[in-house]
Amino acid sequence: MAKQEAQEDFEHQPCPLCGQKTLILTERETEVPYFGKVYLFSMTCNSCKYHKADVEATEQKEPVRYEFEISSEEDMKVRVVKSSEATVKLPHIASITPGPAAQGYVTNVEGILNRVKYQIEVARDAEEDEEGRKKAKNLLKKLLNITWGKEKQKFIIEDPSGNSAIISDKAVKSHFKVKDAR
Ligand SMILES: [Zn+2]
Repeated sequence: MAKQEAQEDFEHQPCPLCGQKTLILTERETEVPYFGKVYLFSMTCNSCKYHKADVEATEQKEPVRYEFEISSEEDMKVRVVKSSEATVKLPHIASITPGPAAQGYVTNVEGILNRVKYQIEVARDAEEDEEGRKKAKNLLKKLLNITWGKEKQKFIIEDPSGNSAIISDKAVKSHFKVKDAR
């Protein structure tokens, strides 16, 4: 059975972006402690470098909202499951929003901060206004302080699919009502 699965993994499919039959699909299962089994999916096109990844819990989940306060360097290691349908909020810094280009992954708080950092860096480099660049620079400095545990930061994940989680005793989990998102 395992052999068959491996063969399927390397079967080339038409790419949704460029249409070439060079899309590689992979699917694997992993266990996230205190969350359960998850499927990790990924699609990568060898022609145009299109990439999409997502994560899905093997059991049905309810819409969830997690709130967590990042307050120490130790918190960088806290595991985070983020699906492509999740909204990640770092109030007063930035958000990661769902959408066709959104990715799903299993990471930790540091991984989330790094993605937000990258997002701000890209925005900063595209910014022509001096004021905007200065603002981005201050946000990057703030992120660095949070990473070092010098500054506290609220971290929220909302996921109508329920396929996301912040795995820590400190995280406050509640039922997410989809209308709250507006
Ligand atoms: Zn392609």
